[in-house]
Amino acid sequence: MKIGCPTEVKPQEFRVGLTPNAAHEAVAHGHSVIVQKGAGLGAGFTDEDYTAAGAALADTAAEVFASADMIVKVKEPQAPERAMLREGQVLFTYLHLAPDPEQTHDLIASGATCIAYETVTDDRGGLPLLAPMSEVAGRLAPQVGAWSLQKANGGRGVLMGGVPGVGPAKVAVIGGGVVGTHAARVAAGMGAEVTVLDRSLSRMRYLDDVFGSVFKTRYASAGNTAEMVAEADMVIGAVLIPGAAAPKLVSRAQLSTMKPGAVIVDVAIDQGGCFETSKATTHQDPIYEVDGIVHYCVANMPGAVARTSTIALGNATMPFMLALADKGWKKACADDPHLLAGLNVHAGKLTYAAVGEALGLAA
Ligand code: NAD
Repeated sequence: MKIGCPTEVKPQEFRVGLTPNAAHEAVAHGHSVIVQKGAGLGAGFTDEDYTAAGAALADTAAEVFASADMIVKVKEPQAPERAMLREGQVLFTYLHLAPDPEQTHDLIASGATCIAYETVTDDRGGLPLLAPMSEVAGRLAPQVGAWSLQKANGGRGVLMGGVPGVGPAKVAVIGGGVVGTHAARVAAGMGAEVTVLDRSLSRMRYLDDVFGSVFKTRYASAGNTAEMVAEADMVIGAVLIPGAAAPKLVSRAQLSTMKPGAVIVDVAIDQGGCFETSKATTHQDPIYEVDGIVHYCVANMPGAVARTSTIALGNATMPFMLALADKGWKKACADDPHLLAGLNVHAGKLTYAAVGEALGLAA
């Protein structure tokens, strides 16, 4: 099979769908790989890295789309990319079709077979191609929060770990899933005093078993949440209700109970955010202030560390990409129900019920 990887064209997207390591494995499996020149530069991979891995280079995305049997990307295809997809071609990337009728219609019209990273499942009920980005965003949250806490950024001027004789910052993490656990670990590693709030007792039992006294857990009742928010120097929002907008757990009125210059990092902003005062920001202009509280609400946090994110995503997508290439999409999906769960569009039809429901289309 010929596997193609174009340069990402969505603004501020520096990741790349195929790492040189993934290209190397595909070539070792007997496939040919074509990569658009410069595709890896944003993630620190040169064209030479790809040619050393056995890939061929193309001058344009059009060449990649025209010659490849399967396109591997990061972000959903943009309109000019969708126009280059063709019947029978496989597209393997993040799609997020439910809120995007225009893209959905174009993919249906293309006749391509479109497999979405975000709906591929695993044995434990997880989403293995979303998890690496949650890990990245979680570990990044205390880092950007610590920066936001600095005086020059409007913060309280508190150092995460304190110093001998001065206590550490207090960090409350709301939601102890993938993002929350990684955020709590890093915040604790920086020396902060960390509490994770969750509504799932089984999840808190797991966290307590695995992490012991590294951080505390509290049940996320409204009362406990209000208390922890009022005490915190930094609050990290990391809740998820699958398939729904994030619940608003902290109201604007509650900001007045917080310490002046405290910081909110709302990682759940990509689902609307869990603070009433959250609105999405960008890496160029990541923070703003409401009632003296600094808000960091970047919807695409992993983009800030494009190299780490690319490699983490590549590690997770590689086995699926190889299965698709080795067996063809039909047999690969027949053999693996978790990969089949990723199939969103095929041969002019929507094949993912939840997207059909969201958009009022037959699936
Ligand atoms: P997850 O499913 O692993 O964890 C979510 C946790 O929230 C679960 O443990 C759940 O029990 C808990 N929860 C649900 N409702 C709650 C409530 N009312 N109070 C307290 N806890 C509650 O999800 P995840 O992968 O950790 O993702 C968390 C959020 O981060 C999601 O909204 C996801 O979309 C977002 N995210 C954002 C970025 C970004 O760049 N901004 C990147 C990755 C993930």
